Amino acid sequence: MVIGVSGVQGDFREHKWMIEKLGIETMVVKSSEDLDKVDGLIIPGGESTTMIRIMKMTGLFERLREKIKTGFPVYGTCAGLIVLAKEIENYPQESLGVIDIKVMRNAYGRQVDSFDEMIEIKGFDRPFKAVFIRAPRIDSYGPDVEVLAFLDNSPVMCRQGNVLVTSFHPELTDDARVHEYFVNMVKEYRVQQEMPKANA
Ligand code: GLN
Repeated sequence: MVIGVSGVQGDFREHKWMIEKLGIETMVVKSSEDLDKVDGLIIPGGESTTMIRIMKMTGLFERLREKIKTGFPVYGTCAGLIVLAKEIENYPQESLGVIDIKVMRNAYGRQVDSFDEMIEIKGFDRPFKAVFIRAPRIDSYGPDVEVLAFLDNSPVMCRQGNVLVTSFHPELTDDARVHEYFVNMVKEYRVQQEMPKANA
């Protein structure tokens, strides 16, 4: 099993270390060819406008959208969440639209206003230190979205099937539980893929 980390832009190295800490092989993904070599993908924090522009130039954007539709697991943090969201405000821009959430960019303040907060995550046995850096705020979400954590009544961790997002940065802590959650999503996907098709 290999977990890809999008190396288009942003803090991908920190995600890579987290996954390696869990004993899982990782690969930096920069092209659609790279994408075909991995079993799941993390899109890091950074600058979503730049990420989307480069991903479109390389063809990664379209290939990723196709793969996500077939069940390929993906996890976006902060800017990565914006790349995956259905609707973006401030400013509106094209995104992959694979999770039914509406997000307001930079809603939690400027870079200097970064903060951390202990949050409760569904299924976790103790609180998690969530680090927010100019984070997007999820303003609304559709019925297929499961909210796994809230901060002040706004969702900060959500899942819709094979798509996981957090508006905070677990890669900037030494707590690997969110990454472990994603690793389990990738493991489930691999099991499904290996199962013979019911009507084949
Ligand atoms: N503000 C950035 C954006 O809109 C996200 C910030 C982050 O990823 N830490 O893309």
